[in-house]
Amino acid sequence: MNYFSLNKKAPNTTFKDAVIRGLAPDRGLYFPESITPLSEDFFKNIDALSHSEIAFEAIKQFVSPEIPEADLKTIVEETLAFDFPIVELDKNISFLELFHGPTMAFKDVGARFMARCLGHFSKEDAKQDVTVLVATSGDTGGAVANGFLGVEGVNVVILYPSGKVSDIQEKQLTTLKKNITALEVNGTFDDCQDMVKQAFLDDDLISKMKLTSANSINVARWLPQLFYFMFAYKELHKKYDELVFSVPSGNFGNVCAGMMAQRLGLPVSHFVASNNENNVVTRFLQTEEYSPKPSVQTISNAMDVGNPSNFVRIQEIYNNDFKTLKENLSSYSFTDEETKEAMTEIYNEYSYVADPHGAVGYLGAKKYIETHPNAHCVCLETAHPTKFLDVVGEVIKENIALPPQILSVMDKKKKSIKIDTYSDLKNYLLK
Ligand SMILES: *Cc1c(COP(=O)(O)O)cnc(C)c1O
Repeated sequence: MNYFSLNKKAPNTTFKDAVIRGLAPDRGLYFPESITPLSEDFFKNIDALSHSEIAFEAIKQFVSPEIPEADLKTIVEETLAFDFPIVELDKNISFLELFHGPTMAFKDVGARFMARCLGHFSKEDAKQDVTVLVATSGDTGGAVANGFLGVEGVNVVILYPSGKVSDIQEKQLTTLKKNITALEVNGTFDDCQDMVKQAFLDDDLISKMKLTSANSINVARWLPQLFYFMFAYKELHKKYDELVFSVPSGNFGNVCAGMMAQRLGLPVSHFVASNNENNVVTRFLQTEEYSPKPSVQTISNAMDVGNPSNFVRIQEIYNNDFKTLKENLSSYSFTDEETKEAMTEIYNEYSYVADPHGAVGYLGAKKYIETHPNAHCVCLETAHPTKFLDVVGEVIKENIALPPQILSVMDKKKKSIKIDTYSDLKNYLLK
């Protein structure tokens, strides 16, 4: 599959090149040249397929011929080596738990898939190490770091906003060592993301090293997220006709991957992008005006994004047509107060402990079914609640057992390098 830049001022390129570059030379995001729907039989027979088989069929066209089928099979099997359970709350709402991977974040899947693709390519032309540069608002960093830990020929440098990620998230970022370095930025997530973008456009820097990104701007991180929607469909399609997904959204990579699944033919009735108070898309759908704002800090911090990078991909999927987009996507925004109330409600009514991101998804689902009582809304639960213990502990006044993935990092010693500006970053990379 070839990819084009959404800024349309860079040459089209291969999957391999798109993965290695991350962002196109004209700063555009890459997008596949074509999307061929899967056969009707695929969806009819989905019950008989395993998760790896579903994933293999769904992603094949986007990575071939550069990743041969036999290698792709191994990559998806290794990527998906954990569960994706669905917990039905009632006839209208389910949680799809995406937090059973090694860092208990839904980003594990994208990170593991991308690490294996990059590992595959670096075996082909080893000689110069690749440096993966990634900005994180919380969860990406841990998932990427873990996905790449020990991958030969690849170094990972993570930028995170100092004091703006949870303790557990910080531990997951800063305690791995080996080929992983954490840079603690005196600033916001947007500052981190801007520095990463600037690095990719710095000709001097990229002439001296092989840099790539691992944010959801990278096609190898973004596309595998479409698997989740297919897994949920497999579980629920016999029971419910009108399937809707409520996706807690920050950079909008996840919901946008769901839309790719829809383009592949998955029968999805509607998407709900659930936002915290960083609500540029909610406002866009109301006013048709896209006006990014600096991000504000919330208790669902992995969604504290002022200018979601994948929004341009969503526009592309719906041909930049506002009306079509509105038919397929609703977006609602919720305050921290509402989010906490939702966590209490979910716990009291269903004995389920949701994390703040999942709770925002739940609120979006509730709002949607007010006007669509026949819909079954799958809320993507994107992080394990113990990753946000401060908030979850305050709301659910009971002890929550820490899972082994979390316990194993708690006692390790944090190691980070503090930086303030882009030139600090550049100096570090070149030293
Ligand atoms: C990254 C993240 C999100 C937002 O996902 P996007 O693809 O950026 O919209 C939501 N919840 C959690 C826990 C995350 O880590």
